[in-house]
Amino acid sequence: MDTVLRIAIDGPSGSGKSTIAKIVADKLGLEYIDTGSMYRAIAFKVSKKIKEQNFTGENFHLDDFLNENISNILDDTDIDFKEGNVYLDGQLLGNEIRVDEISILASEIAQFENVRKKLVDFQREIASKNSVVMDGRDIATNVIKDAEVKIFLTASVEERAMRRYKQLLEQGQDLVYEEIYDDIKHRDINDKTRKLNPLRPAKDSKILDTTGLTIEEVVAIIENEVKLWQKSNRLGQ
Ligand code: C5P
Repeated sequence: MDTVLRIAIDGPSGSGKSTIAKIVADKLGLEYIDTGSMYRAIAFKVSKKIKEQNFTGENFHLDDFLNENISNILDDTDIDFKEGNVYLDGQLLGNEIRVDEISILASEIAQFENVRKKLVDFQREIASKNSVVMDGRDIATNVIKDAEVKIFLTASVEERAMRRYKQLLEQGQDLVYEEIYDDIKHRDINDKTRKLNPLRPAKDSKILDTTGLTIEEVVAIIENEVKLWQKSNRLGQ
């Protein structure tokens, strides 16, 4: 594809963004950029620091730790993203960043201005050089405000929790559905109410409620949005 095409896919946890974004990127021959994995990578580093320093128990307050240490940790952290994978200080990260502890921690550190600045600058640099499908929370409203196609995926909390529950069971993790439901609700509140770039659709995003839709149906709707953009782009030339 010669023309620049940047597809922004935003939505809450468990709305199916990454599965859908990957398929759309493959079908259209675009780079897939998972911005959530970058927040998770920083959370992973923070978690390592907390464990190294043996901070546990009642006397440990995450907010205080982050306020005191996040700047130094960021200065000493290198995030890269290549071929669909995130790298922390040169090391490829995999499923270790997909566990619940890191999910929650990622939504905590994502509220810090310096964390967002570092990652948003990096994401904009990637999007300035490539045609991409980028998924996250603030892609259409902040990272690529002029993206050619903007999609906002939603689904009920129950459906998102059930999808996540099944996904984790398949990965062999032993979990309680109610805990996942509570985690998703907690992360929704963090993501929607934070001061900086909260989760919300852009004015010109196509809002797509995926409750009850198959992956194929959602992909087809997005492909149709791309076709509509291509058509209007041709007409506009
Ligand atoms: O998408 P994923 O669930 O992997 O993202 C982990 C966390 O990172 C989210 O809960 C959210 O708090 C944060 N995030 C963000 N902005 C993005 C992507 C993720 O704040 N663009």
